[in-house]
Amino acid sequence: MEKKPFVTFEQLKEIDKTYPTPYHIYDEKGIRKNLENLLEAFSWNKGFREFFAVKATPNPFLLQILKDYNCGVDCSSYTELMLAEKLGFDGEHIMFSSNATPAEEFQYARRINATINLDDFTHIKFLEEVAGLPETISCRYNPGGVFQLTNGIMDNPGDAKYGFTKEQLFEGFKILKEKGVKNFGIHSFLASNTVTNEYYPALAKVLFTLAVELKEQTGAEIKFINLSGGIGIPYRPDQEPNDIFAIGEGVRKVYEEVLVPAGMGDVAIYAELGRYIMGPYGHLVTKAVHEKHIHKEYIGCDACAVNLMRPAMYGAYHHITVMGKENEPCDHMYDVTGSLCENNDKFAIDRMLPKIDMGDFLVIHDTGAHGFAMGYNYNGKLRSAELLLKEDGSVQMIRRAETPADYFATFDFCDILK
Ligand SMILES: *Cc1c(COP(=O)(O)O)cnc(C)c1O
Repeated sequence: MEKKPFVTFEQLKEIDKTYPTPYHIYDEKGIRKNLENLLEAFSWNKGFREFFAVKATPNPFLLQILKDYNCGVDCSSYTELMLAEKLGFDGEHIMFSSNATPAEEFQYARRINATINLDDFTHIKFLEEVAGLPETISCRYNPGGVFQLTNGIMDNPGDAKYGFTKEQLFEGFKILKEKGVKNFGIHSFLASNTVTNEYYPALAKVLFTLAVELKEQTGAEIKFINLSGGIGIPYRPDQEPNDIFAIGEGVRKVYEEVLVPAGMGDVAIYAELGRYIMGPYGHLVTKAVHEKHIHKEYIGCDACAVNLMRPAMYGAYHHITVMGKENEPCDHMYDVTGSLCENNDKFAIDRMLPKIDMGDFLVIHDTGAHGFAMGYNYNGKLRSAELLLKEDGSVQMIRRAETPADYFATFDFCDILK
């Protein structure tokens, strides 16, 4: 499928008068429509709730949009819990899925009544000691081995640091029950960025079957099953996007097959989607500022890997549109680079693009999740601004760009730089 930016060349020229590149820009209309579809696809389940994975796009303005749809948030750290609390999410709308969790994070999660999703068997004792056990608790499951879907997609739970083994889960539920826990949830995240409608239904089958066994063997009252994240997006133009309605329907079938006959037809389905919700609705906008002709052809731009780490870190593909040249032939092969003193700072390698001239706007697609969020300050580079393209076409700054003062802020305890 052809990848088209959600902003026009004209809009970018207009934005450029106020906000210099590079910046991330988000598409409010796209985010809202996507959320509406997700909620409709799972509307058959009375208790369905999306807890947006805050780590994917931790911007308060964007989290506020999700609030309009009664979404919750999935937090993994102290500051993410702070963000959720400050935005007025109540305990019912905060999932705390963390691992190797510090005591003060459990204490904070308990204070604001977030639902804790325990990552490990030993955390039962730890949580009890540092913060006390709540009435409702969730446990994360790791089946081990290899998780494989028919289209070749696979992941390796056996190598993943997360979750309880099956034996630990049964033992853990018994202990938690004896200690007075009343309501239970189970959670699992078995494959990341799955571009197939099969993942959620296959995961649902694993978790629903497990839930029935857990209920039968431990008597635990299972209130929710959390399918977590992992629904992917088509980063490449040749990928077929997921059909959320087919996914919702696939999960419904398994629900009817496994849970309903076991008398568990009132279990709520939870999701913690990050990438699927926000990924396609963010662009990193940058300008070509240098061209270099050595052993290869390079385009240097004013963004770099600190603005978008995925290509450098995972070799991830991100589509690039050269604005205003959408209909020109892709007859030039470029490496599109940032300015870090690190050779993996390349947004694209051997990419066929139209001829790029200095000052051209490059739109780097699908940066709405795990994009800005993974930013860092290597080479003294500063994080960019984030902008929101609102439904009425206006543009709002939703995070200012860092300045050198931000970079030096952590030396404010002394006068070495005064
Ligand atoms: C990262 C994460 C998610 C979101 O993953 P996506 O790939 O963005 O869907 C959800 N739940 C947990 C526990 C996570 O760590």
